[in-house]
Amino acid sequence: MTARRPTRVSAPFLPFTRPSIDEETIAGVAEVLRSGWITSGPQVRAFEAALSAMFGGRPVLAFNSGTCTMEVALRIAGIGPGDEVITTPLSWVATSNVILAVGARPVFVDIDPVTRNIDLALAGQAVTPRTRAIIPVDLAGLPVDRDRLYQIAARHRLRVIEDAAQSIGANWRGRPVGSTGDFVSFSFHPNKNITTIEGGALVLNDEREADLAAQYRLQGVVRSGPDAMDVAVAGGKYNLTDVAARVGLGQLPRLGEVTRRRRELARRYLDLLGAPGLGDLGLGLPPADFEQGNWHMFQVLLPEKLAVPRAAVMQQMHEAGIGTGAHYPVIHLFTLYRGLGWKPGDFPHAERAGRDLLTLPLFPDMTRGDVARVVRELARVIRANLKP
Ligand SMILES: *Cc1c(COP(=O)(O)O)cnc(C)c1O
Repeated sequence: MTARRPTRVSAPFLPFTRPSIDEETIAGVAEVLRSGWITSGPQVRAFEAALSAMFGGRPVLAFNSGTCTMEVALRIAGIGPGDEVITTPLSWVATSNVILAVGARPVFVDIDPVTRNIDLALAGQAVTPRTRAIIPVDLAGLPVDRDRLYQIAARHRLRVIEDAAQSIGANWRGRPVGSTGDFVSFSFHPNKNITTIEGGALVLNDEREADLAAQYRLQGVVRSGPDAMDVAVAGGKYNLTDVAARVGLGQLPRLGEVTRRRRELARRYLDLLGAPGLGDLGLGLPPADFEQGNWHMFQVLLPEKLAVPRAAVMQQMHEAGIGTGAHYPVIHLFTLYRGLGWKPGDFPHAERAGRDLLTLPLFPDMTRGDVARVVRELARVIRANLKP
């Protein structure tokens, strides 16, 4: 931990998230390192097979990020210059950078302030003759309404690239995210519910798409003999290493337990934050969904009656030994996107969330006591900073 530890706090610093890698996995990684084959090979194939089994046998390819997965999906769908892709301004910037990367135009619509996910009614209204795809994001692991999403996609003949970077282990009406739908993209960054250090996976529809994805993953190479290869598409360098895949293979069997534990801790947060004594804080709480979401993050919306900006709350929480996060500053107000024409006020719900959402600590190795401590300190910090 690089976090500064104030002297008056005796409890250890509590980060907002922390990966959890067991000893068996660490030993397995050492074995791979000694094996003589450390880049893409048998571990990657085993990891892909395990993911595919989780997703009802759909084709799955592993990649070295949950960003290139979406870029490759857009390329497979043939989306490029002149095309529009609808998405949310409240996400990690990767979600829309990939649209620019293939030369298409992102079209943002506002979020639903309750779910904090893309407002699907607005998404439907934003469709033009140039719209080719939609990239919804399951923010904090709360799934976007798949029924409405695919109704809109079918009505307007849109491809869907589900940015499920945060929602592995979540489900829609009992069906695991990844097991249904069009393209589904996962990330295994260390902050995500399971990790490969860096990495991602793309779920595809058929073998033709999987073949193409494999080409885009590695320089477009297609081998046709021990000394023969051809290249028909300009692929990238997006392959996962066997070392990383071995980490993922150690993580996957624990996904159910991780999801269960996250739901339990989130329920504890909601119980404590919803208690009558804390009603005066004016916090906006996430939907109480313990069936479908995987609780990738627990985010509260800070009250408008606060006299200080979020950064001051984060600083004071840090001084109390508690890490917090800001997920995410809205995309459309970054310099790159302002340059494309967006401005403050375009998406009021997303902008409020981008300014005032605070991510509280939530990871499987936390205790119920940690949750109580976070709530106690948060209540103290907010009360100390209310407008007079
Ligand atoms: C993490 C994340 C990504 C990108 O994943 P990387 O593996 O870091 O490239 C994309 N979208 C969302 C919503 C994410 O949370």
